[in-house]
Amino acid sequence: MEIRTPLLVDVSTTFEEYISRLSVTDKKKYKLNKNVTAGYKFDLIQYDPFLMRQFITLWETQTVYGGLPIKWYRPMDFMDALDTLIMFKVTLDDEIIGLHCFEKCDQLAYGHPPLYNKNKFPNLARFSWFSMIKHCCNSEIKYLDMDGGSGRDWRTLLLERHNHENLDPRLFHLKYKWCYVSKDVKDDPGKESPYLEFRCSCNWKQLVETGEFFCNGHNRKMIGGYGKYSEGNDSPRFLLK
Ligand SMILES: [Zn+2]
Repeated sequence: MEIRTPLLVDVSTTFEEYISRLSVTDKKKYKLNKNVTAGYKFDLIQYDPFLMRQFITLWETQTVYGGLPIKWYRPMDFMDALDTLIMFKVTLDDEIIGLHCFEKCDQLAYGHPPLYNKNKFPNLARFSWFSMIKHCCNSEIKYLDMDGGSGRDWRTLLLERHNHENLDPRLFHLKYKWCYVSKDVKDDPGKESPYLEFRCSCNWKQLVETGEFFCNGHNRKMIGGYGKYSEGNDSPRFLLK
């Protein structure tokens, strides 16, 4: 069982409504990005292990967050074995310039980072995330999780958002993700549920609030309870009973 903090984008509405709920600044970011990526296309494709390898290799030759080399966070075999994985390609003039995947577990989509050449296509990531959100808005999916790291529940992450942006270097990399979260959610974090996201050993994912987890992969319910967050401990404990 793996526990992560979700960073949730509400995609239960139409895409137009989703955009209308963004802040003025974030709407501008969307419009600007739309203009500079006018030739880009985003399409659903069959999972392709060769493309996955090609783009992970490309990804790993680059650096992130001001100079740290990137290592893709999962072994390739892990990606290949995920039967929940949905893959998209980003193309420009019929050339594939980016790859973007999410894991679909019923009404939850867990988005992986887009894979692309950061120097050559600096606007691709935002295009790809907004396109993925649009895809989700037109589906049964309710939440797209962009991954908030670990150690907090969703509501706490929202409440501490400005600390992440300014003070906590471990969570600095979340900063770029907040432009996708609607203004009303950021303005009123107290309304949100204190979700954690569980990944079962069979890789089924679910948002959990109560300590009860129904795994579709195992087709059974698991019951547990939250332990206390201890000072300086980055991982919440979940005790299976
Ligand atoms: Zn399971």
